[in-house]
Amino acid sequence: MSLHQDLIERDRKVTFHASTHLRDFAHGDSPGRVITGGQGINIVDKDGREFIDGFAGLYCVNIGYGRTEVAEAIYKQALELSYYHTYVGHSNEPQIELSEKILKIAGMNMSKVYYGMSGSDANETQLKIVRYYNNVLGRPQKKKVISRMRGYHGSGIASGSLTGLKAFHDHFDLPIDTIRHTEAPHYYLRAAEQHGMTELEFSAFCADKLEAMILEEGPDTVAAFIGEPVLGTGGIVPPPEGYWDAIQSVLAKYDVLLIADEVVCGFGRTGSDFGSHHYNMKPDLITIAKGLTSAYQPLSGVIVGEKVWQVLEQGTGEYGPIGHGWTYSGHALGCAAGLANLAIIERENLVGNAAETGAYFQQQLKANFEGHPLLGDIRGVGLMAALEFSPEAKQRLHFDPALKVGPRVAAAAMEENLIARAMPQGDILGFAPPLTINRHEVDDMIGRAKRAIDRVTDELV
Ligand code: PLP
Repeated sequence: MSLHQDLIERDRKVTFHASTHLRDFAHGDSPGRVITGGQGINIVDKDGREFIDGFAGLYCVNIGYGRTEVAEAIYKQALELSYYHTYVGHSNEPQIELSEKILKIAGMNMSKVYYGMSGSDANETQLKIVRYYNNVLGRPQKKKVISRMRGYHGSGIASGSLTGLKAFHDHFDLPIDTIRHTEAPHYYLRAAEQHGMTELEFSAFCADKLEAMILEEGPDTVAAFIGEPVLGTGGIVPPPEGYWDAIQSVLAKYDVLLIADEVVCGFGRTGSDFGSHHYNMKPDLITIAKGLTSAYQPLSGVIVGEKVWQVLEQGTGEYGPIGHGWTYSGHALGCAAGLANLAIIERENLVGNAAETGAYFQQQLKANFEGHPLLGDIRGVGLMAALEFSPEAKQRLHFDPALKVGPRVAAAAMEENLIARAMPQGDILGFAPPLTINRHEVDDMIGRAKRAIDRVTDELV
């Protein structure tokens, strides 16, 4: 048995893997892989097999693999101080510097940063802030949060409730009581059912649906709306034209806070620093993670806007210190990694590259796949894109789920040593490579994807 196989067999006996068919994996009926290294946009497994990572891990390794500069920053900080808690006003230097940097990049009248370790826990913090905010304002009934079908906001009890994907609710008794889900801004999927609306009409339709939900629930019970600037795990769906303007008008009308979940979009993915900048959103609260450290350390954050911050201050004036905290909040190693990561993004102009190489990437996807018999929709922005497969593009028909077209294409891509992600609830192949990718690498990635898709097409017809 190879060293790699031996590791996989040991892993099967001891590890509970995320988003995995637990029985098949434990019993050797689904494959495993041990990743041992990476450089640039490539990763390598224990057999030495190299893959293009077309999904940057889970769209998080934005600066690419193998950045010794970040490793050194973490090491240096660890020698000095790995950890001390940040409760009751304690801090560390990287935390202070990182908060200053984040607030500068964000702008938008943002005031303070609270740190966590994951996007899920950051969204738990968001929900607590929203509750506290309305309690301080003497509106204890204003507690419901509206999320969107196909939205992804994590997989905890509350953050998983915000998520609008079936697999994250079924058999877990989710969503919890105070969460609602409104229309997904999935123009390709829904517009045909809505009698061929234009994008603008579809955006107005989504805003009308949101307004109807707020009115039905009672505006005095609806506290916040949460959305990813670009729907991510739910299918990599950029918003249709006019979507965020229309949504924000409704939120303003009913005094509903906007939480922008920038876990994927934040720090350059769309070609702007934040998705909120890209789509002219004016959030009250922002969730960040992934690109904040490019996953060199686990670190997330909640950026609190001045309007909400004022109320939080008022609350602690009335009730005493806020009853919220994680042991690892503001972890010095995470913050050191974040600083080194943001320095690289700035120095190498990776946001600019996401815009420029991203535009080339989007254009090449269209050039290679428009009119392809397996393709329904080709969409994306910056360095995130999706191919949605359909047996009849114009009619937006779906393949029989039993055919597992999306996972089959992803598996065929693996045979080409390309990692692209089969997204849930649909036959969708997602791309979100490191923001360091160049045109030559884009061509290579698309070439491999094309060979994989052609092969699955041959099997299907
Ligand atoms: N929010 C968004 C938009 C995400 O894409 C994710 C993860 O993919 C999360 C939140 C949850 O982050 P984590 O997996 O770090 O808990």
